[in-house]
Amino acid sequence: MDKRNIETSPGAGAAGHEVLARVTNLTRRFGGLVAVSDLNMEIRRQEILGLIGPNGAGKSTTFNLISGFFKPSSGRLYFDGKDMTGKSALEISRAGLVRTFQHGSLMRSMSVYENILIGAIGALPRGTKKERAARVEETAEMLGLGPYLNEIAGTLPHGIQRLISIAIASAPRPKLLCLDEPLTGLNQTEVMTTLGVFEKIRQVFGCTILLVEHNMKAVMQICDRIVVLHHGQLLATGTPDEIRHDDTVVSAYLGKRHGD
Ligand code: ADP
Ligand code: MG
Repeated sequence: MDKRNIETSPGAGAAGHEVLARVTNLTRRFGGLVAVSDLNMEIRRQEILGLIGPNGAGKSTTFNLISGFFKPSSGRLYFDGKDMTGKSALEISRAGLVRTFQHGSLMRSMSVYENILIGAIGALPRGTKKERAARVEETAEMLGLGPYLNEIAGTLPHGIQRLISIAIASAPRPKLLCLDEPLTGLNQTEVMTTLGVFEKIRQVFGCTILLVEHNMKAVMQICDRIVVLHHGQLLATGTPDEIRHDDTVVSAYLGKRHGD
């Protein structure tokens, strides 16, 4: 495949939109099924990028490929100026790409403090107790979890538990934070709070966010750009307004979402 410099050099995107991550010709097969097919996309520094599409479109597979949980059948992954193709999830997370899991990633029987500490220890392996505590407190403060630090995570409302998962993932101050359906099951107030948290994480921690999400209203509201997948292929890329008015996207996905 073509290995032009443009694929590895940060700043290769449109003017003022430095590229943080890029996949080229990314393909993943499961037996005879092509879950992700020849996908080319970029993630720009400090943007919130939405990844949407119908069930089975290949969103989770793409997410797993980018975070190193699946190896691509072919194609390449570039992250923060390096070719990370085939690297393990651990190597990729050390390079600054952290993900959450769709069904949460927290320890229910531990306190909120202890949960966020997991992320802080990962981020500061040689840090002192005091440094790690400062990281936990700063993260909790930013996400509005300060009042809950001593509570047992599993006893707290669903919306707070979701924020705890995001706090663990953002404690290392990742360059790219990948969130898999973080709004599922949240009520409208919790959705608004969580969207506010995404904005803060982006602005204060300088994170870039990749958001796989079914809540279209929220995606349209918070994302700078959106990538639409359909049958494992890229259907469209654009701003929320462009996507909302894209006939192909409306007929393949948005128009069929009644009762979703
Ligand atoms: P989405 O997240 O958009 O709903 P997925 O990426 O989960 O879609 O799935 C895309 C396609 O790949 C689906 O047809 C799904 O059944 C298939 N698939 C996903 N993961 C696996 C797997 N581990 N083994 C076999 N098939 C898979
Ligand atoms: Mg999925």
